[in-house]
Amino acid sequence: MATSNATPEDAPGEPDSARSEGVDATTTAIAAIIDPLIENEKVIAAGFAERARLLAELHRLGEQPAIIAGLRGDPVETGADDPDTHAHGPAWDDVELAERTLATEVAGALRLHSTTARMMIFNAAHLVEKLPGFHTALAQGRISWAHVLRMQDVTTGAPDDVLTALEAAVLPKAEKLTATQFGRVAARELERLHPVSLQERADVGATLRRVVLQPDVDGMAWLNAYLKADEAQAGYDRLTRIAKSLNDADTNDGADGAAPAGDVVLRTMDQRRADAFRDLLLDGECVGGLGRGIRGTVHVTVPVLTLMGKSFEPGMLEGYGPIDPETARRLAGTAPRWDRILTHPETGCMLSVGRDSYTPPADMKRYTEIRDQTCQGIGCNRKATNSEIDHTVPWNKGGPTATGNLVHLCKACHRLKHQSSFSTRQSPTGALTWTSPGGKTYTREPANPIGPPPRRAPAAPPSPPSPTREDPPPF
Ligand SMILES: [Zn+2]
Repeated sequence: MATSNATPEDAPGEPDSARSEGVDATTTAIAAIIDPLIENEKVIAAGFAERARLLAELHRLGEQPAIIAGLRGDPVETGADDPDTHAHGPAWDDVELAERTLATEVAGALRLHSTTARMMIFNAAHLVEKLPGFHTALAQGRISWAHVLRMQDVTTGAPDDVLTALEAAVLPKAEKLTATQFGRVAARELERLHPVSLQERADVGATLRRVVLQPDVDGMAWLNAYLKADEAQAGYDRLTRIAKSLNDADTNDGADGAAPAGDVVLRTMDQRRADAFRDLLLDGECVGGLGRGIRGTVHVTVPVLTLMGKSFEPGMLEGYGPIDPETARRLAGTAPRWDRILTHPETGCMLSVGRDSYTPPADMKRYTEIRDQTCQGIGCNRKATNSEIDHTVPWNKGGPTATGNLVHLCKACHRLKHQSSFSTRQSPTGALTWTSPGGKTYTREPANPIGPPPRRAPAAPPSPPSPTREDPPPF
């Protein structure tokens, strides 16, 4: 408002009506964006609710006997006469088969890792069936997806009989608080309602200890320290090697849910890796000095011109992807062993032993390892060195042991291929096309499509001698 003691030098005061018009215009301009933003947020929330509904429906579909029968694989491939059968372990039960197959179907459709897809389906069923009030509130845009994620974090593992009371108590809070604030309130409320003591739950939590390696961008990775990718991977590899040496009698690798041998409760591979990590971090060495002399290793493919400093083409770190040329050269400089892979007939790498041998020779194995880098399952990133080699056309159906018919699949993807109605076909360069029970196809290109060597051109017939041409006369 203009004041009565204004001097002539002051800007002339605005009349009240002009100021009020300005305020109104500002309010109107901001509201013109904020109001649709609020509406858009409701649409996004409703989209998440619909996704959860569909995934929960898929989950229910996987419980129907007729659908499960349709998900089972070719009995010939799962038969005892297939050498692969010995490698990929006992058959999954119906629940496991349906969950894994449908999760992979979703993973292919939404471009996800199958573990992520499986978790998404599990969470969707949990939301729709056990937290119906939250599902409805999400569909109506009264709460956000972030609130639902907090509620799922808090309630996963909580007994079903407290969920109704918990939901009723905390849903009104979710409509008012930020997701983080709400998460704290919900955790406190669950603590009040939970029938099992925190001590007992902490004991169960301790059995889930593990070390997680997560690739990031720009040549970096998380080992839950943000490190250069090759260092993080070498650290994880070292922990794995130490974990393997911690208990020689331990036959339960925990990776595929296999039961421990006998009645002895053994640590899983995940637990041993976490214990090695803790001991090294807190004490500098593992119990009894285990781990001394164990070094982590990484596998890197470096283009020869990068190695010579004549190209900036990146190296490829196995299980990760491209790394900067300088790191690739540094790793190459300290490598104790090299495998040359040249796409040329003179390489000496045997590309097929046909039907002579089921097991590929070492150089063929290494060739496919470098070509694939990771498991070639849908959305799967497990390292090739921790995977199995599968005959795409099964051995017991006449498939040869040849690079064009061999591909890396981790234990889980390998079992999925053989035990479910997913099928695969392979191109000569190693690209693997999966066909899902839902009729979709997904092609997985190898990390290094080195392919078979070019065929030698047939020797050209000797050209007839050209008639001797007489020099023209010098005149
Ligand atoms: Zn896999």
